[in-house]
Amino acid sequence: GGGEERFDLAVIGGGPGGYSAAYRAADLGLRVAMIERYQSLGGVCLNVGCIPSKALLHIAAAKEEAERIAEKGVRFGALELDLNALRSFRDGTIKKLTDGLGQMARARDVRIINGVARFVASNCLAIDLDTGASQYVEFEKCIIATGSSANKLSVFPKDKRIVTSTGALQLKTIPKQMLVVGAGIIGLEMATIYSALGAQIDLVERLPSMLAGVDPDAVKIWQSRNAHRFQHIDLNAGVVSATADSKGVSVEIEGAKPGRRTYDLVLQSAGRVPNSASLGLEKIGVRCDAKGFVAVDRQMRTNLPHIFAIGDVAGNPMLAHKAVHEGHVAAEVAAGLKSFFDAKIVPNVAYTDPEVAWVGVMEHEAASSGRRVRSAKFPWAASGRAVASGASYGMTKLIIDQETHRIIGGVIVGPHAGDMIGEICLAIEMGADAIDISKTIHPHPTFGETIGLAAEVYEGVCTDVL
Ligand code: FAD
Repeated sequence: GGGEERFDLAVIGGGPGGYSAAYRAADLGLRVAMIERYQSLGGVCLNVGCIPSKALLHIAAAKEEAERIAEKGVRFGALELDLNALRSFRDGTIKKLTDGLGQMARARDVRIINGVARFVASNCLAIDLDTGASQYVEFEKCIIATGSSANKLSVFPKDKRIVTSTGALQLKTIPKQMLVVGAGIIGLEMATIYSALGAQIDLVERLPSMLAGVDPDAVKIWQSRNAHRFQHIDLNAGVVSATADSKGVSVEIEGAKPGRRTYDLVLQSAGRVPNSASLGLEKIGVRCDAKGFVAVDRQMRTNLPHIFAIGDVAGNPMLAHKAVHEGHVAAEVAAGLKSFFDAKIVPNVAYTDPEVAWVGVMEHEAASSGRRVRSAKFPWAASGRAVASGASYGMTKLIIDQETHRIIGGVIVGPHAGDMIGEICLAIEMGADAIDISKTIHPHPTFGETIGLAAEVYEGVCTDVL
């Protein structure tokens, strides 16, 4: 046993949800402890997620852009890869950001405790410290921000060549043949990185489309721009068996074109599961849903009103910006404010080449929900900036409610799509009409201008609002 301490608020987990909640609560005057099992703050996002993947995607995009400008008259010599330097660039990026989080904790007197936390009573956590000792933390309120882990498929044996995104981001070697299982955002980002660095990629996806749920026009553009990366793309398909030996990982795929192939690296990117199982939640009676997500209300409270849950462990979408937003709500409620999670929408971005960003209602899904919508599409072939930048394949699409003429969704494909989607998010949150966007002067020539132009396309087809 070790010591015992009391805090106004205990936050379990030092990821985007946890640190946002801890720092906001401290700013509001609470005495806060943040418990994190790893030495480095920042959770999945900073250490093995958003940030390392974006550092490597930046390299991949720069390398491929350099290849593309060869046709335009600027050529470099033969390709040389220095994996050590790449890994240091990745680690340096992570370190700058995680060190910053440590400084922010110190500046607010947020106590960081390194260890694994579990509930022993409804106002007390036991923490197994890194030192081997344990400590008790008593709290008035607690925020569960323990995040999620990659879903491991039972069909795969344990082998160091079969990895999740965490293993893939280590960038140990560049395989010749790589299988990516799951064509969601993470799978496609990893495929982009490894393909740019020289691997041949196969893709297996259980659903009929990659980037499931995303506007089909956008997916079509992505697929045609990325066809060169893939030897085989098996949709509506799955892995039925896998064995590992000295020759590689042999994988049997069932689908329209069944077959057995051998790979040097297999990435499992088929979803993530909430980290809720070993927290002792059943002991204190905190309820989870059937998938293990901690059930919460719009104030991020669990069924025990003094215990909150935020971020990946509290449900989909599992995204850092959602976790941060929920963290602020939970901290404010814990400090006695009347805050609610009342965001209308949460944007999504695949930071691939091209980037795909989408938010709100998708045109192809609106029909089934009985909503009357119309879309306005602006093809980037008509954007001066896009043509001048070799991005005339891109697209900006707005989805507009036919009853109210309000913007209710949007999709962008092309460079900087993720940076631009914020304007559509703001339009949706503010209840803007297409005319609000089209009458806003956008700078020319920019990629962002295509949002204004898509709104003008809409007005052209919908004269009754003019
Ligand atoms: P986490 O970041 O998972 O943090 C939870 C923390 O809790 C961890 O540090 C963990 O060690 C700690 N913990 C867990 N249990 C305990 C315990 N019992 N005791 C003490 N500590 C504990 N999202 C985006 O928005 N944009 C992106 O570009 C993006 N890219 C991604 C790329 C990859 C490869 C991956 C895997 C994810 C990506 N995500 C991205 C998702 C994003 O990382 C998560 O949504 C985000 O990290 C969730 O934050 P969180 O605070 O809920 O949980």
